[in-house]
Amino acid sequence: MKIEFVDLKKQYLALKDQIDSSINSVINESAFIGGKYVNKFESEFAEKYEIKNCIGVANGTDAIYIVLRMLGIGLGDEVITTALSWISTSESISQTGAKPVFVDIDEYFLINADKIEEKITKKTKAIIPVHLYGQSCNMNKIKEIALKNNLFIIEDCAQAHFAEYERQKVGTFGAAATFSFYPGKNLGAYGDAGAIITNDDELALKCRMYANHGALKKHIHLMEGINSRLDGLQAAILSVKLPYILQWNAERFEKAELYNELLSEVKELNLPKIREGSKHIFHLYVIRTNKRDELKEYLNEKGVETAIHYPTALPNLQAYHYLNFVPNNFPMASGIQNEILSLPIYPELTTEEIYFIASTIKTFFKY
Ligand SMILES: *Cc1c(COP(=O)(O)O)cnc(C)c1O
Repeated sequence: MKIEFVDLKKQYLALKDQIDSSINSVINESAFIGGKYVNKFESEFAEKYEIKNCIGVANGTDAIYIVLRMLGIGLGDEVITTALSWISTSESISQTGAKPVFVDIDEYFLINADKIEEKITKKTKAIIPVHLYGQSCNMNKIKEIALKNNLFIIEDCAQAHFAEYERQKVGTFGAAATFSFYPGKNLGAYGDAGAIITNDDELALKCRMYANHGALKKHIHLMEGINSRLDGLQAAILSVKLPYILQWNAERFEKAELYNELLSEVKELNLPKIREGSKHIFHLYVIRTNKRDELKEYLNEKGVETAIHYPTALPNLQAYHYLNFVPNNFPMASGIQNEILSLPIYPELTTEEIYFIASTIKTFFKY
């Protein structure tokens, strides 16, 4: 048996006719940059998200950077975010000139809302909660803190397309939210792609302008911007896939439940916890064990590919040595970085494969 960590080919084959014909249309119409397919996807995504504006951009990292810049965040400001994420989250804060301020994680691997207030200073302008692995942060508490301290909330939804918190979709709690459509994400393009959503029309217009060299009309540059556009091919592919996202999320959830059931007796493992009232979309299924490296190696020998998200918590990366942290500043994130293991999870993963993975894990732990 050989089980890949993500298998994008299976999904492509299931949708091959639609995808191929959408690609052909874009090429035949030379609708590569902007135009009909980009507009179409933007309005479909906004509609499905029940939000006023969607701006397609080149990737999920740019999406965060653009929103921060257009909210006026820059040099001298501080932005609070989680100690456990992909580097895009903190990198885009630094790119604006602002300083990333990290907060340790909670038992769900997400920013610990109870530890945010102690990090707020006069310079704090915004909070970026990251709905990591597909699960919502504690948005009630985060909203309360943001309101009290007059901070923007920018949700990083790169791993959480259509996840929910108390029946409200993540991405609709703050000033704006950002998405990545990197191929392996729950909704993935065939290259880099991203989007910003917001109910604030003025912010939407600014983001759209900034992402396109500061122009809404060709040659009318109202300001300097950057080149960060969603391209027509990616937009057309995303339009084919969008109608399936809720079904795919539900299938991921079922796979997670099956893992939970099969692995529940293994007391050496901590299985992912679901926050009460939240709808987890299981972008990743992450288990914890202090035998992580040995288990990973064993699964690999048996043909099961796994991954680690992420092997080094953000504050512990070389990139942030200049902030002079010690692992003890972020005990939860620094502890679990050596214990977390992401098992394969995607809609096309078969029940048989999950049984195989679970029984291989049980054999490793001598069950
Ligand atoms: C993937 C990801 C991003 C960035 O997305 P790109 O499209 O690769 O730039 C940002 N934040 C998180 C949490 C991610 O997982």
